[in-house]
Amino acid sequence: MLSDLHSNVEALDAVLAAADEAGCERFLVLGDIVGYGADPGAVIERLREREAVAIAGNHDLAATGSFDVTWFNEAAARAIAWTREALDAEATTYLSSLAPTRSTDEALLVHGSVRDPVAEYLLSPEDAAESFALAEYSLAFFGHTHLPTVFRHQPDGRVKGWVMAEGQALSLIAGERYMLNPGSVGQPRDRDPRAGFLIFEDGKATGHRVPYEIDKAASKIRAAGLPEWLADRLSLGE
Ligand code: ZN
Repeated sequence: MLSDLHSNVEALDAVLAAADEAGCERFLVLGDIVGYGADPGAVIERLREREAVAIAGNHDLAATGSFDVTWFNEAAARAIAWTREALDAEATTYLSSLAPTRSTDEALLVHGSVRDPVAEYLLSPEDAAESFALAEYSLAFFGHTHLPTVFRHQPDGRVKGWVMAEGQALSLIAGERYMLNPGSVGQPRDRDPRAGFLIFEDGKATGHRVPYEIDKAASKIRAAGLPEWLADRLSLGE
């Protein structure tokens, strides 16, 4: 399970290599495929090759004109304008085909939250409780915050939340409900700059982090004339 790839093909390639080694066969992508980074076309190409099951995030919708960039900070808005120019027609059609929410056999997929699939940042158990209350799903996967997170809805109605540490495995308990965020592939923000993802198999989720060629991704951002901060933040993991 991948989220927030943000046009970072170096990070995505490292994640795909690790996923292949682990024997992963299906790829779920929770949005923000593009934006911020310098390789939107290559990232989309990889996802199409893998026949990834994907939804759109706010940056993907902005890149295709379906989300207002006035909600974005200046660097993000500049990157969206650049991304629109960089995408070819086929890639734009691919992004336009993605919905902001989707149900699969294993989970409900949203970018932000169930309450607001596109834009809400799900950071607290209180906010997660609002999403749990809105639909009957037992498992949802989300992204958008760039932080690997677990929210667990217990049978007594209380919601607990915690950070999903690298290597930590979570076995889902029948009768409980969960929302899981794999963190970000292309722009982690938990001060660990390594690409994050989550492997989900037989009711068990495991957090993963992998190093990638950050300097290469950063120098492509600079060479593209994108805001300097978008390059700098990759090595800081924020
Ligand atoms: Zn994002």
